[in-house]
Amino acid sequence: MQFQGQILKMTSFDAQPIQYYLNLSGDLIHMNELFGKELRIKHTGFQCVNCGENKPVYRMGFCKNCFFESPYASDTIIRPELSTAHLGVAERDLEVEKQIQLQPHTVYLAYTGDVKVGVTRNSQIPTRWIDQGATFALPIARTENRYEAGMIEVALKQHLPDKTNWKKMLQDDFEGEVDLADFQQKIRQYFPEDFQKFYSEGENIWKFDYPFEKPAKVMSFTLDKKPEFTGKLTGIKGQYLSFAGGDFINVRGHEGYVIELEVKN
Ligand SMILES: [Zn+2]
Repeated sequence: MQFQGQILKMTSFDAQPIQYYLNLSGDLIHMNELFGKELRIKHTGFQCVNCGENKPVYRMGFCKNCFFESPYASDTIIRPELSTAHLGVAERDLEVEKQIQLQPHTVYLAYTGDVKVGVTRNSQIPTRWIDQGATFALPIARTENRYEAGMIEVALKQHLPDKTNWKKMLQDDFEGEVDLADFQQKIRQYFPEDFQKFYSEGENIWKFDYPFEKPAKVMSFTLDKKPEFTGKLTGIKGQYLSFAGGDFINVRGHEGYVIELEVKN
């Protein structure tokens, strides 16, 4: 079997285990069916997720020009606390920013090898947590917009990480329970005064089951360094494909790359 197209982040469905689909130019390839098979991945070009041109990806699937101009790649995507759409103030394109920012958001704790804090649009639950490779996740605040969630996150990240350590996430084979509810109680005091009203107590803890077993070692490669790669697919966690021998590729980190994918028996 052979496929080709532009990489977008994998689509996932929360099941036991989680089901993953590689998205190549909109064609969805069910990856769970390919475990144990040898895959050959060849980088053949680029297709910017915004303008569609064959220009090198700069960040997040965008070419350099689009990364600095598109409202879908603005600073508030990475730093929600900078949001200003609720004030009617534009960053790059107010109408787009209103759509992104003026909708319900959730501040959460997730366990990805460490307990971290993060922010997501409600529409991205539970996808956001699966993309990060979280084993557990717990909503701790519900807000009306992105700015409010960002302000809570900024206060909490003084006390715990807000980034996923991918190596720790892939090396983690935690079997027990992490008491995120207890963690939530302990950090409540760090909520800014004006934002206590968004605190949400007693929500269900989400638990995720990945089609993945921790390898003996973890090495990540990119298509920049290895434009052609062949390996036996063994599992998936977060947005990482896991290959026999401990090789990993971060699919989301290759959005906008155009590849050929060959599935050998
Ligand atoms: Zn572009």
